[in-house]
Amino acid sequence: MYPRLVINRKKVEENARKVVEIGKKFGIEIVGVTKVSLGDPNVAECMKKAGIEVLGESRIQNIKRLLKEGIEGPFMLLRIPMISELKEVVRLVDYVLVSENSVVNELDEVAELVGRTVNVIYMVDLGDLREGVWYEEAVNEISKVMHKKNANLIGIGTNFGCYGGVLPTVDNMKKLVEIKEAVEKKIKRRIEIVSGGSTVTLKLLENGTIPDAINQLRIGEAIVLGTDATGGRKIPWLSDATVILEAEVVEVKTKPSVPVGETGFDAFGRKKHFEDKGWRRRAILAIGEQDIDPIGLHPIDEKLEVLHASSDHTIVDITESDNDYKLGDIMKFKLSYGALLRAMTSPHVEKIYV
Ligand SMILES: *Cc1c(COP(=O)(O)O)cnc(C)c1O
Repeated sequence: MYPRLVINRKKVEENARKVVEIGKKFGIEIVGVTKVSLGDPNVAECMKKAGIEVLGESRIQNIKRLLKEGIEGPFMLLRIPMISELKEVVRLVDYVLVSENSVVNELDEVAELVGRTVNVIYMVDLGDLREGVWYEEAVNEISKVMHKKNANLIGIGTNFGCYGGVLPTVDNMKKLVEIKEAVEKKIKRRIEIVSGGSTVTLKLLENGTIPDAINQLRIGEAIVLGTDATGGRKIPWLSDATVILEAEVVEVKTKPSVPVGETGFDAFGRKKHFEDKGWRRRAILAIGEQDIDPIGLHPIDEKLEVLHASSDHTIVDITESDNDYKLGDIMKFKLSYGALLRAMTSPHVEKIYV
């Protein structure tokens, strides 16, 4: 059935192995992040085979899926938890990212009831403006986390490139390390883990500038796609041929490049700009916004141009291609992070593992 995603397990595993290796060089543990794959057990298995121990997931449902498919943790919950899910969090998760003192207190109480202990990593916002205590208030707030029997403050962490697109630098990394040291002094206990971000932080390992005290990174995109969206690059030492999307052609016709008639907005309320290139040869694919982000489709045939998509149709300009596309032909694409996220989530996209 089409559309489908062809996931190359060997390439994902090789990427994971290379990321683990570069981490090792700097004394950094890699948490393997499976969230872009909807908690796909095949992806998790590749990470485990490559020597990754802890798996990071943003959603409890995905962790449940992994467990059901026989993937054992330990698991890290990447999205700061909802109060309403704490019971499940405590049952299934070993490391929880948090940004509120009250959540640590609640976690401790729930953990007492469930009869389990959880490890807590307190998030610090170094400027990207997603989760975490603002760095100027971090020492104060984190030091207020009391020593608890069931919720153990094991580390601090940070995020880059998620909301503000802020990049990790030696300076903001050093800030995180200073916060760790100041908190340790105040609470007179060691902070074991300093979790310095995600794929975008790999750059600081490549150029050897990552501070010594950073000892953990949480990596998803680099392993699954070989790219770094925030850094705007393909990672040169990783493969980006890990996942290929295949979609089927359902119409091939020659039409004008500019709509005829008065125009309003498209199906999603967007106003598209059309450049008049005269009559063009175009194919329609049986895949749409429900399954992919059209901006994130990168055709393997480089002479194709993805024009636009509505819920169920994607329109591709094939005029310049050397291939003579016909009905029933299959077009292949590499994917951006956003496009892959949607394709993995769509029940209408089959997943094939090779
Ligand atoms: C998604 C996420 C990651 C992994 O990010 P990648 O860019 O896929 O490596 C790490 N940490 C947190 C908190 C996340 O939400």
